[in-house]
Amino acid sequence: MFCKLVAKEIPSHSFYEDEHALAFLDINPRAPGHAMVIPKVHAAALLDLPEAEVGPLFGAVKVAMARIAEVLKPDAFTIGVNQGEAAGQTVKHLHVHIIPRWKGDGGGSIHSVVHNLPAEDVAAIAARLRQG
Ligand code: 5GP
Repeated sequence: MFCKLVAKEIPSHSFYEDEHALAFLDINPRAPGHAMVIPKVHAAALLDLPEAEVGPLFGAVKVAMARIAEVLKPDAFTIGVNQGEAAGQTVKHLHVHIIPRWKGDGGGSIHSVVHNLPAEDVAAIAARLRQG
């Protein structure tokens, strides 16, 4: 569906676009200026995004944030990706949420999205990750 936004087949409240990415407002915002940045190539998730698109996508996130910071003057930002159904991804085209934050807005930090304390020791997990 977000490919249709890129192709302009369906409208969006876009506010930044370059060769690689499109930034637009979420149709169902959780905060004023809640935006999303998507790659123009289709990739369901970050792990599917071609290597050459990763940097430009993050660059576009920064440009979009700077625009929001300048115009809406939030106190802070939360940046995040819901990747995969278990994480709450509903649209299967990678999108980076930019959520402007204000003091007292009722939200929490990224730590508040999950409560699943690991049974395994942190050092043991790190060792497994280093082995690959
Ligand atoms: P997620 O997949 O990360 O859970 O969230 C998908 C997001 O896309 C939601 O916040 C939803 O409001 C937004 N969304 C879904 N369809 C459209 C659309 O057609 N246009 C825009 N601008 N946002 C959409």
